[in-house]
Amino acid sequence: MTFSQLDINKDFIKNLESLGYINLTPIQELSLSSSLKGKDLIARAKTGSGKTVAFSLPIVEKLRVKEFKIQALLLAPTRELANQIAQNLRLLFRHVHNVKILTLCGGVPFKPQVVSLSHQAHIIVGTPGRVLKHLDEKNLNLDFVETFVLDEADKMLDMGFYDDIEKVSSFLPKNRQTMLFSATYTDDIKLLASNILNNPLFIEVENEE
Ligand code: ADP
Ligand code: MG
Repeated sequence: MTFSQLDINKDFIKNLESLGYINLTPIQELSLSSSLKGKDLIARAKTGSGKTVAFSLPIVEKLRVKEFKIQALLLAPTRELANQIAQNLRLLFRHVHNVKILTLCGGVPFKPQVVSLSHQAHIIVGTPGRVLKHLDEKNLNLDFVETFVLDEADKMLDMGFYDDIEKVSSFLPKNRQTMLFSATYTDDIKLLASNILNNPLFIEVENEE
């Protein structure tokens, strides 16, 4: 299946093609028909399977640039991964002006993040602990989030972020779309999923490519 066969904005398809994305990977093919309709999903897939585009396209399709509200929140285990996701999102939005994507990660100064937040953003990509700290200090309003993504959820749990993730999700609207990605499907992941996802589709991809 090709991206041009998806029911998404034609300009996005052109941009995807200019980035070299022509055919969908298995995880993209299995997830996008449902996720583009707003359905929650759990996807078990290994590194390199193309998860970033899988969870980014529903965000790209839904985003209203003229509304300066945070419309998507993405959590990742590390600063490196969060920055990588943010860079990828910027590429997917490179043909759209004024999309503001902010990273909120631990291990970097807090104050400049507060200043950046005061200028508003459309999308937040962060690590769970630091995002929660901004929520606790009321720097961050997630009342308008429509899409919540957990990337490498198993790694986040390995790092002890279970409670932080649950607390962060308690700040989100109930009627959001949530997508959880993980390389493994452990009891911890199942418990987390049952608490923060709503009737999710479960997708499994064994072999990449
Ligand atoms: P994951 O997060 O599952 O490890 P990524 O989303 O980082 O994987 O994608 C891995 C690599 O594959 C990246 O370099 C990305 O640009 C590329 N890629 C993803 N989807 C496609 C696609 N449909 N066609 C071509 N390349 C793709
Ligand atoms: Mg990834």
